[in-house]
Amino acid sequence: MTMQTCDPLQARQWFKLREAVNFAVVIVGFIVLDAILWPAAGGFIAGTVSIVVMFCVFFFILHKRTIGIECPHCRNFIETNTPWVCGFCGAKNQRIDDFPFVYRCEHCGAEPKAYKCHYSDCEELIFFTNDQLRINYAQCVNLPVKSKPVKRDKKMEVVAELNEGIQVAKLKVEKAKYDVELKGLNKDLEPPSKEKTAFEQLEEYYKGMMGNEDAAKKWHAAIDAEFPNDPLEREKRHEVVKQWMANKL
Ligand SMILES: [Zn+2]
Ligand SMILES: [Zn+2]
Repeated sequence: MTMQTCDPLQARQWFKLREAVNFAVVIVGFIVLDAILWPAAGGFIAGTVSIVVMFCVFFFILHKRTIGIECPHCRNFIETNTPWVCGFCGAKNQRIDDFPFVYRCEHCGAEPKAYKCHYSDCEELIFFTNDQLRINYAQCVNLPVKSKPVKRDKKMEVVAELNEGIQVAKLKVEKAKYDVELKGLNKDLEPPSKEKTAFEQLEEYYKGMMGNEDAAKKWHAAIDAEFPNDPLEREKRHEVVKQWMANKL
């Protein structure tokens, strides 16, 4: 039987006040009942009936009332007489009418600062004080440990990797385009190169031709060294080098 749903921050205070409230209810109930019954039944019977009735009310109703709290996260109703495990000493609390989690641990006396909501789709911490200690919280006995194995989706991983590759490639292409553009711009900004003199032109030509000559000489020597006993092969290869030289003229 439930007394009321109260703010988790006030639950501890309500639990401590419970006995006093019950006692007051019984006294008031006795007085009212006795006053009603007295005129009809006389003082003795009215008093006896009132005592018996209020005795039953106290033990079978009031004492069994539970303080309920509403989880501020999932809005589910939680009875504070749920058997719980102390987060400080790890012991189970079974005498929950006297030691609910909003009060204190029957073993070590610690007052839990929070209770882990026992609804499997929530499991958030419900704090009883403004001290939001996130460890050593009380939790329901046998609360199954919810394991959430992180599923690795191979396909998605491959797709993500490819996407990343595409992005990198796109950026590289873009950069190359900009490089070309930049080169063009730089060229436009460069001062026009001075016309080369005839002397310089001939020097360049001469150096190029001599370079070709040297290269051809080296190739001819290499061919001779490679095929000393094969005149046909040598002839064929020397022809290739000569052809190349002829094209350079
Ligand atoms: Zn919850
Ligand atoms: Zn404890």
